[in-house]
Amino acid sequence: MSDLSERLAALRGRIDKACASAGRDAAEVSLLAVSKTFPVEAVREAYDAGQRIFGESRQQEAAPKIAAMPTGIDWHFIGGLQRNKVRKVLGDFGWIHSVDSLRLLEAIDRVAGEEACRPRVYLEVNVAGELSKGGFAPDDLLASADALASLQQVDLMGLMAIPPEGIAAARGWFSKTRELRDRLAAASGLALPGLSMGMSADFEEAILEGSTIVRVGSALFGNRFYPA
Ligand SMILES: *Cc1c(COP(=O)(O)O)cnc(C)c1O
Repeated sequence: MSDLSERLAALRGRIDKACASAGRDAAEVSLLAVSKTFPVEAVREAYDAGQRIFGESRQQEAAPKIAAMPTGIDWHFIGGLQRNKVRKVLGDFGWIHSVDSLRLLEAIDRVAGEEACRPRVYLEVNVAGELSKGGFAPDDLLASADALASLQQVDLMGLMAIPPEGIAAARGWFSKTRELRDRLAAASGLALPGLSMGMSADFEEAILEGSTIVRVGSALFGNRFYPA
């Protein structure tokens, strides 16, 4: 086995274990392999080891990797997204985790209608109110419940959150995100089954708080040598 397939197997083992301690079915939690900055060879290796869900944060970097890989992979966009890039991103990605404003969401809804596609979307929430970070403020999100319920062309999966960097106890932010999801589901009447939370350093805590998809890069592919 290659190093990468061993790391993948180890990660899956840790996910299964976290699910078991949370009393959750391991089938409820997906592993999103974040391949940003890594070459297509690394994606291929993970693919050969059975991985079928990959995340990228830049459309331009991702496009040649996506073109070089077989179909049947779910490509998830996790990076900052500007409205003028929506059409390109929808051409390559079926999932978007980083929708951080109602304006962007409505642009995605409109362009998806024009392109006759149906993207699955997570709304990024700035649950700690960090000034340096984008994302919906919790109150704005709740105030948008009716607008969310009236979207035509996107499947709203749920919420995505990144806890403050370097924080020892990420778990509290994950549980706040879950509570916010529950309130938004009640206010909008949408199911919002998904919680995109947890990265290499904290995915086990995220699973304990209900994460349904963990976004893992460095623990699988190794350290990134340039910023994404
Ligand atoms: C890069 C990135 C990840 C993966 O981070 P690791 O710490 O390497 O696991 C997850 N989510 C987002 C949004 C990212 O940009």
